[in-house]
Amino acid sequence: MPGKLTPPVQLGEPQPKPKPAANCDICQALVHERQIAQARGDLSKVVDLNIELRSHPGHKQ
Ligand SMILES: [Zn+2]
Repeated sequence: MPGKLTPPVQLGEPQPKPKPAANCDICQALVHERQIAQARGDLSKVVDLNIELRSHPGHKQ
């Protein structure tokens, strides 16, 4: 229908960034990788790493 504008869909990260477990080396490494990916603008990698962080087994929230 003309005259109807849909707002652009925002790709990227609708969810807040997950926090790494303080004493988990893997989480720390994932966060480090995420910073690198973010610095080079690789947002799909950032999202992947966030998913990994969020679903990293062995952590109670
Ligand atoms: Zn972890």
